[in-house]
Amino acid sequence: MTPAKKRATATATAAAPTKAPAARKQTPAKWTDHEVGQPHPAATDPASDSAPLGAHVSIAGGTAEAALRSREIGASAAQIFTKQANRWAERDIEPAEAEAYRAAFADTAVRWQCAHDSYLINLASPDPELRARSIESFRAELRRCHALGLDALVSHPGNYMDERASGLQRNVDGIIEALEAEVGPTRLLMELTAGQGTVLGGTFEEMADLLDRIPAALQSRVGVCLDTAHVWAAGYDLREDFDGVWARFGDTIGFERLGCLHLNDSKAALGSHLDRHELIGEGTIGADPFRRIMTDPRLQRVPRIIETPKGDAPAATDARMLSLLRSFAAGG
Ligand SMILES: [Zn+2]
Ligand SMILES: [Zn+2]
Repeated sequence: MTPAKKRATATATAAAPTKAPAARKQTPAKWTDHEVGQPHPAATDPASDSAPLGAHVSIAGGTAEAALRSREIGASAAQIFTKQANRWAERDIEPAEAEAYRAAFADTAVRWQCAHDSYLINLASPDPELRARSIESFRAELRRCHALGLDALVSHPGNYMDERASGLQRNVDGIIEALEAEVGPTRLLMELTAGQGTVLGGTFEEMADLLDRIPAALQSRVGVCLDTAHVWAAGYDLREDFDGVWARFGDTIGFERLGCLHLNDSKAALGSHLDRHELIGEGTIGADPFRRIMTDPRLQRVPRIIETPKGDAPAATDARMLSLLRSFAAGG
């Protein structure tokens, strides 16, 4: 058993699962520690992040295992699935699992956590049976997030199939029904899509329209997740028109609604409507927009999650991506 595992287990059996995580003994990185030719210490130090930064990590072996994976890559944020994302089968989180999960994360530098919902959910579906099933499944997603005490649930708008306007309203009604039924600490973040086929949420205007239809009483429980690879594929040119894209974002959705950034480069072309993630700096978007995002004062406090390909060495690849982003934040 590793020391990390041993500590996590010990905390999991302690009487007060909600107690504050033990104070970290990490020394803040100093520029003076930096030797020429060596990676800057800030590049691997999660305590140096102005906003939480992390990766989508696997829950193989149990949700608590996500903590060990986040720790291994030096993350200060984490995203998980709370079940198998490509299956309808639902599950609830029992108190023992929630306790073990919280204890395991208390032993990491992670200070912001979200889940991504199942890809099968389609709240905009014109098929009553599929839509009812989607609402049930979406409610179960929210319940699991609340049980784990997650900060956010990231969810894709649905597929309208028949007619855009009625599909958008079905999507909104599904969100309202689920939020009213499942009350808890987790904020719902609707993710901008690549706008492929009949999927909703591929433009800032449509996303703003969707959110504006949610009643005032629920507004504090909803927001937006912007995935760089999705908006690029949707036609927003972060490379040649960085300022224009963010100005349009501010004018339509608004920065106050931005609850999470998914930082992914793209294998697909601008405007292709294809959702194909690539390693940062190695795709069609290139490093520069990410450099700008990491130093933009408007985005300084927004949690960032990478969903980049993990290859044969998931931890090493994710750690390399986080270091790269931190070097951008430090002006590199
Ligand atoms: Zn997504
Ligand atoms: Zn994403």
